[in-house]
Amino acid sequence: MGRTLFEKIWNNHLVKTIPGGPDVIYIDKHFIHEVTSPQAFAGIEKRGFKIFRPKQVVATADHNVPTINQHLPIRDMLSRLQVDQLIANCNTHGIELYGLGHPFQGIVHVIGPELGITQPGMTIVCGDSHTSTHGAFGSIAFGIGTSEVEMVFASQCVLQSRPKVMRININGELNKGVVSKDIILYIISKITASGATGYFVEYAGSAIRAQSMEARMTICNMSIEMGARGGMIAPDETTFNYIKGRTFAPQGEEWDKKLNEWKQLQTDDDAVFDKEINIDAADIEPMITYGTNPGLGIAINGLIPTAESIPDEGERKNIIKALEYMGLQQGKTLLGMPVQNIFIGSCTNSRIEDLRLVAGVVKGKKKSEHVKVMIVPGSQQVAAQIKAEGLDKVFEEAGFEVRQAGCSACLGMNEDKIPAGEYCISTSNRNFEGRQGAGARTLLASPLTAAASAITGVVTDVRTLLN
Ligand code: SF4
Repeated sequence: MGRTLFEKIWNNHLVKTIPGGPDVIYIDKHFIHEVTSPQAFAGIEKRGFKIFRPKQVVATADHNVPTINQHLPIRDMLSRLQVDQLIANCNTHGIELYGLGHPFQGIVHVIGPELGITQPGMTIVCGDSHTSTHGAFGSIAFGIGTSEVEMVFASQCVLQSRPKVMRININGELNKGVVSKDIILYIISKITASGATGYFVEYAGSAIRAQSMEARMTICNMSIEMGARGGMIAPDETTFNYIKGRTFAPQGEEWDKKLNEWKQLQTDDDAVFDKEINIDAADIEPMITYGTNPGLGIAINGLIPTAESIPDEGERKNIIKALEYMGLQQGKTLLGMPVQNIFIGSCTNSRIEDLRLVAGVVKGKKKSEHVKVMIVPGSQQVAAQIKAEGLDKVFEEAGFEVRQAGCSACLGMNEDKIPAGEYCISTSNRNFEGRQGAGARTLLASPLTAAASAITGVVTDVRTLLN
């Protein structure tokens, strides 16, 4: 019987299977940041261990960094301590750090791919849920906990139970105004925030093949939001073209060798998945969430569901509670609802293509005076590219605030927070209660929807502006 892409990569990295227990998997790349690494460093030091393969670890500072005045000392004491600790740990253990002030600094899931560190066929881990992003290159990439970070430090391996495999096929052409963020929000709204629990998902089909690498990253990034262990897309010419020439991409003969290997990384025709879902791309509209998990989403011109329409009692209670937190009503549309904040950033949508999409909508227009708009590039390299293309001018003329690279208002762990009770259309990946700050109300959407709503000051169907 044929094998899935997941099985091929997993088996290539299988060190041993513990009878009746998990597998020991070799890890090619280990990304770390300031939040989940300190306890792991302390753990190996306490046991007297060294980092087994420091050259396979790459560090950056992203979660706690301010997104203005990055040249000044960090004002928040806890954030400063965490970033300083990361610097000290990386110095002690000989780990490459792209910290504040380094031209490669940025959100860990943005810099790995843009530097060419993320490559097909790899196993990649990070103490961060959205490590699934790297699966867009045809790698097995997943988030790990702090004790597993310590395990990888000490052994370059991790103990993992083999997940089941699911394939989601999306075929056909996308509608106007629909982008990759809408694809993934649509999938999660259909299968729910727990619909892929226990699975590793491969995305396939003509609509996926037509996506750029940055769009594929957006899709894989949110795999975790439907409970999946990770998401992946088989590499193809789009993948190879993206990687070629990047800072840490293979060069010369090594490139040719790798390319030959990468071309084998496909699911066999006769491979069998534990579950398979088929979606017609034409069914997908621009999406927006109304609740407090990413599965509570609707088409932008749809209605928030009514309690009676939800047969499952637990789900019904969840939605009622979510709507209470969000200050929204059953059976109503979100279109035309005033919003106070727009956040365009995060490891889901802060890459150059996302910001080009935004610029395409707002060029020559001004934002609504009732709304505060933050654009936060995912990395220093994206920030430099914005300037090189003159997008910073487009944003400034529109009245947007362009900040420096970091996780920013994706989570309330730095200075960029959304005030309690206010709405924020966010291009990030989580709309949990308090995610963007205590009491903040998050509506997840695409960069296009965020841009259109920034101009009008209300929840807007971008297609009305594109027309
Ligand atoms: S941008 Fe948000 S989701 Fe992504 S790594 Fe940072 S905090 Fe996590």
